[in-house]
Amino acid sequence: MKEDIKSMSLEELEIFIESIGEKKYRAKQVFSWLYKGIYNFNDMSDLSKELRNKLDQIAYIERLDILKIQESKKDRTRKYLFGLRDGSAIESVFMKYRHGNTVCISSQAGCRMGCDFCASAIGGLTKNLSPSEMVDQVIAIEKDTGEKVNNIVVMGTGEPFDNYDNLCKFIVLIHTQEGMNMSLRNITVSTCGLIPKIKEFGTDFPQVNLAISLHAPNDAIRSKLMPINRKYPMDELLRVCHEHTMVTGRRITFEYALIEGVNDSSENAKELADKLSNILCHVNIIPLNLVSERDYRGGGRRSAQIFCNILTQNGINATIRRELGSDIDAACGQLRLKQKN
Ligand code: SAH
Repeated sequence: MKEDIKSMSLEELEIFIESIGEKKYRAKQVFSWLYKGIYNFNDMSDLSKELRNKLDQIAYIERLDILKIQESKKDRTRKYLFGLRDGSAIESVFMKYRHGNTVCISSQAGCRMGCDFCASAIGGLTKNLSPSEMVDQVIAIEKDTGEKVNNIVVMGTGEPFDNYDNLCKFIVLIHTQEGMNMSLRNITVSTCGLIPKIKEFGTDFPQVNLAISLHAPNDAIRSKLMPINRKYPMDELLRVCHEHTMVTGRRITFEYALIEGVNDSSENAKELADKLSNILCHVNIIPLNLVSERDYRGGGRRSAQIFCNILTQNGINATIRRELGSDIDAACGQLRLKQKN
């Protein structure tokens, strides 16, 4: 079987290159070609013909198949449907903000966390993405748009901490200077609350931003919406979040999708403010985006503003997330697994 060269860290690639009798420095050349969006060893023009042939025989360059691109008429957000080798598909989103271009990538095809309001959970988990499948979402989008990606958020389909090792490899890959050279501070990983991994991540990557999908002010509501809460309840989650901010010195983002009649009352806002009062954090309020298979409704902009004001008045830093790409189902929670055809 051929080696997945795009999943190799620069160090692994150096060992690989030496193992086939080549000089170590060749690894840097190969590595940087991969991040320029080169998909054919033959196009690596500073390598000898012999090495190009050798690599072609023993390794492959992961390439996602662009099945479909949709562009939002409202805000130029672009949603990509990518096909994977096994026939499954994933989605990624390219967004233009004033502070730069952001790509939202998927970490799994499907998801097994089962959150009740989220389209990505429909149909369960198909597979964990390899590091190269995560990296190539970014490379393919840079190549297609001709624009540099400045920020990466791991907030697409899947639970990144349910694919922890590949997630970590992915972060190392895009951070490597010879490749994308992305600053760790420009990466955000979002989790529904897998406590043991939150702890590990704080030690492994203290500079990467952490976002927690909270969506409720207490266990009763959260357990109804998010099955993971029955395993890792909120008090413990918030305790670990507090610890995380102490260890990393960095603010945590809590995502809170407002669902009409479920978690959007003034009492809910007050209870939330109380629970978060000792945590260095920011609350990102998201008016729930429509998922056709679900009958939850978002309360709209006005109720989001009221909720946000209560948090702010109670000393909690909060803003309402600008919705991008909702007309092409590219907004939070609208990404879903689609099969080819
Ligand atoms: N599994 C990770 C990464 C996904 S991030 C996590 O849960 O954090 C996607 C974000 O969109 C999560 O905060 C998720 O809870 C939120 N979301 C899911 N469905 C949504 C919907 N219908 N409207 C708004 N946000 C939603």
